[in-house]
Amino acid sequence: MNIVFHKESLKLAGLYLAIVMSISLFFSGIVYQLSAQEFKRGLLRPVQGYELQLNDGIIGNWREQLMAERQVQYDAATHRIIQRLLILNLLIFIGGGLLCYYLAERTLRPIEEAQETLERFTADASHELRTPLTVMKSENEVTLMDPKLTIGKAKEQIKSNIEELEKLSALSEGLLKIARSGSDNLDIKAVDPAQVMAMAQDRVLPLAEQKKVLIKTSVTGSPMIAGDEASLIEALVILLDNAIKYSPPSSEITVSALRRSKEVVVRVSDAGIGIQAEDLPHIFDRFYRADAARSKQDAGGYGLGLAIAKMIVEKHHGSITVVSKPGKGAVFSITLPGINQK
Ligand code: ATP
Ligand code: MG
Repeated sequence: MNIVFHKESLKLAGLYLAIVMSISLFFSGIVYQLSAQEFKRGLLRPVQGYELQLNDGIIGNWREQLMAERQVQYDAATHRIIQRLLILNLLIFIGGGLLCYYLAERTLRPIEEAQETLERFTADASHELRTPLTVMKSENEVTLMDPKLTIGKAKEQIKSNIEELEKLSALSEGLLKIARSGSDNLDIKAVDPAQVMAMAQDRVLPLAEQKKVLIKTSVTGSPMIAGDEASLIEALVILLDNAIKYSPPSSEITVSALRRSKEVVVRVSDAGIGIQAEDLPHIFDRFYRADAARSKQDAGGYGLGLAIAKMIVEKHHGSITVVSKPGKGAVFSITLPGINQK
């Protein structure tokens, strides 16, 4: 736990303990008052009854003696109750203090984790933004200082700048999507997976054609999804984009949708480079790229695609899983809530 959160936990625990102790002291006061009253009624009541039948002198002595004895008993009893209440409050203070610290830590832990994630995300994002900017800056400086700069070379530099800018705008778009994910609301309706598949396929068509990759689709039965069409298309585009990027030219990709009890499963299978077992647990993390993908120059990305797809699926209360072996392709499955049909 970092030092700031440790301090905040202590503060919160102190506040909890102050509340617990004020309640405990309040009730201790009441218990003391009631007990003292009870003792008073029992021990300090006026001497009466059979004593009154004795003669006056004896009664006087006796009464005084009895009253003095009872006063001593009363004092001892109230002293005892104060002592017990103090011990009880001390125990509550120690036990309650420990419990309050534990509860305060538990309350703050999710906030600490969220802050750590945010810090990591901001650091990764600034790193990703800085790299292309530094490259662009130094390339431009070198070009500018070249005394034999020709129009051809300048055009080449401008082209390279535009490429970097395109990457940067894709990155900022991805970052915005992640940043907005918490506040964007889904427009949940009955969505036809066949429609989602067709629209997503349309969007990746230029990329697929360029690589001569064939996309086959199949829908079993007539499953309907309870979801937000635009977001679902976006998630499927991310999977298709990866499948094309990480597949060899002229290979085949299959997209299928089928109903499984109350859910609809949309599956994207490719025959590409596949994913190493050690990368599998991380590929849905933000900015994570497996080495095989990183070393592929033409597959330049930022490792945000699957993080966004996962976010979309989870907002639908669905899940996304992958099965893959290096060199044997990858199968991504999205499970989404279905709609019952007659
Ligand atoms: P971006 O999507 O942001 O342009 P990216 O494709 O590298 O970049 P993700 O889509 O999040 O990022 O994928 C994370 C990593 O998972 C990829 O870098 C790649 O290593 C691996 N991966 C994802 N899909 C596949 C696939 N179909 N076949 C093989 N590896 C894949
Ligand atoms: Mg991707």
